[in-house]
Amino acid sequence: MSQALSFQIEPNAHPVSAADRAAAIAAPGFGKVFTDHMVTIRYTEGQGWHDAKVHARQPLVLDPATAVLHYAQEIFEGLKAYRLEDGTMALFRPEANAQRFNASARRMAMAELPEELFIEACRQLVQIDRDWFPDVEGGAIYLRPFMIASEVFLGVKPSSEYLFMVIASSVGGYFKSGAPAVSLWVSQDYSRAAPGGTGAAKCGGNYASSLVAQAEASKRGHDQVVFLDAAENRWIEELGGMNIFFVFDDGSIQTPPLSGTILPGITRDSLLTLAREEGLTVREERYAIDQWEADAKSGRIVESFACGTAAVVTPIGKVSSPSGSFAIGAGGPGQVTQKLKDRLVSIQRGSAADPHKWVMRLD
Ligand SMILES: *Cc1c(COP(=O)(O)O)cnc(C)c1O
Repeated sequence: MSQALSFQIEPNAHPVSAADRAAAIAAPGFGKVFTDHMVTIRYTEGQGWHDAKVHARQPLVLDPATAVLHYAQEIFEGLKAYRLEDGTMALFRPEANAQRFNASARRMAMAELPEELFIEACRQLVQIDRDWFPDVEGGAIYLRPFMIASEVFLGVKPSSEYLFMVIASSVGGYFKSGAPAVSLWVSQDYSRAAPGGTGAAKCGGNYASSLVAQAEASKRGHDQVVFLDAAENRWIEELGGMNIFFVFDDGSIQTPPLSGTILPGITRDSLLTLAREEGLTVREERYAIDQWEADAKSGRIVESFACGTAAVVTPIGKVSSPSGSFAIGAGGPGQVTQKLKDRLVSIQRGSAADPHKWVMRLD
């Protein structure tokens, strides 16, 4: 049975030297510094999951007819390993990532991976590459589990073979600007997801189709894109890779509902839980772009923020579209945003109680 798969461990014979590693993780940025190892597990129809290995990080050799290169059967996850205040390495809600990975797999007609195997793969990689933890503000080892269709075949059908991998990256803050708040561009010409499509699956294809809008935003000097619903071009959905929250002057908060076109963020879910515990009124209801503008201008909206594993909680300072711009609050992190962020980060770092058992200690 796949649950009982044991990992073959082949340590990297030529790891990065301690001095080079120290230099690399001193100011790691995001997604540029990679560790010495990776995990691979193979799936073959009829046989199931097999050949679980931890080995040196290395290039993949793929036949040019490998299915993923043509029809994009690919999904991924993103989670961080933190060092707790007492020095223990820990994962935050990894079972939620494992479950979402399988939900994505089902949508993309790919093989599901037993949750224990997903978590064990993450654990093994953090164990062997723990020296890559960067001791910087907001530092973490970012894990990127992903799976590709690996059958060599040009016919259009679900692949009969898959390759699951985990790689790891030493990371600091996500936004290089270090700005107190990000600016958003409202995408009018491009949608991220349509009803019945793949918006709720964490697949590379969603990102591929969002990049032209992101490039347009960057060209106009904005940090991120905010996407509207595909049917009416009116209801706020999410950013290219982060969910969105609105804070009202009566202290209530609101976020768009999981309608099938929005990625169910684990940060989103965690913040909803924490906000309810704080006694805030929380709504998961749709919110129109013109209403956001009117409410920001009237003062009914006092804060807005984006959230996701990579950037955690990021205040939104300004929103622009071809018809003009509006500012949110004072342009920096507001009180509610800061409070929710502090609550979340202190649980993730092990400095606050963890009543929901979100933190999984690795040793
Ligand atoms: C991953 C992702 C998020 C955030 O999810 P988290 O689990 O909070 O990291 C939001 N939107 C999209 C499109 C994503 O891919």
